Amino acid sequence: MQVKHIAQTSSILNKFMMEIRDKNIQKDSMRFRRNLERVGEVLSYEMSKTMKFSEQTVKTSLGVKKILLHENDIVLCSILRAGLPLHRGILNYFDNVENAFISAYRKVKKDGSFTIEVEYFASPRIDNKVLFLADPMLATGRSLVSTYRALLSHGKPREMHIFSVIASTQGIEYIKKYLPENTTLWVADIDDEMNSKDYIVPGLGDAGDLSFGTKI
Ligand code: URA
Repeated sequence: MQVKHIAQTSSILNKFMMEIRDKNIQKDSMRFRRNLERVGEVLSYEMSKTMKFSEQTVKTSLGVKKILLHENDIVLCSILRAGLPLHRGILNYFDNVENAFISAYRKVKKDGSFTIEVEYFASPRIDNKVLFLADPMLATGRSLVSTYRALLSHGKPREMHIFSVIASTQGIEYIKKYLPENTTLWVADIDDEMNSKDYIVPGLGDAGDLSFGTKI
């Protein structure tokens, strides 16, 4: 698996990441969602440079121009609900892709351990297509691996790209073990720690709650 750590090179992305992480600025949920979207747009742009392109022609009102356009047999899958703003950001750039949605949540047991439960699942066939998986917070990596396994019932993709806003070092090691070789992780930033509740530290908090409000 290849890991592309985009914030390793300073760019406008740093400002979006600062606002997403800042405990005061992130209270503005509209700005928070829009910043997740903007990260999705930056990651999409970076990823697009590695795609296969083929020559096509476009007719302008004055003539004809040859242009290289990217392959477009992509299925974009997001994990509900925190994945929605990131999904939208990717869709802003890859506007013709097919879409899949899956719900994966942590079912916490009495002893504090948890299992990942996959319930809602809506997806087209993905055989031999390029699979994009949007998971803003790659913490343990377990929901991502459960999502991938659930998607296999709809076919085997020819390659996979994961889009994340923040990943933990531990989560990256976990998905390296369980996801296929031809997977690339496009991650804005990487943090080294997780707390006892498997939240990324310093991270940003709960991306779903910050986007859509707290749940009971
Ligand atoms: N999900 C979140 O929203 N935040 C984390 O830190 C980990 C998982």
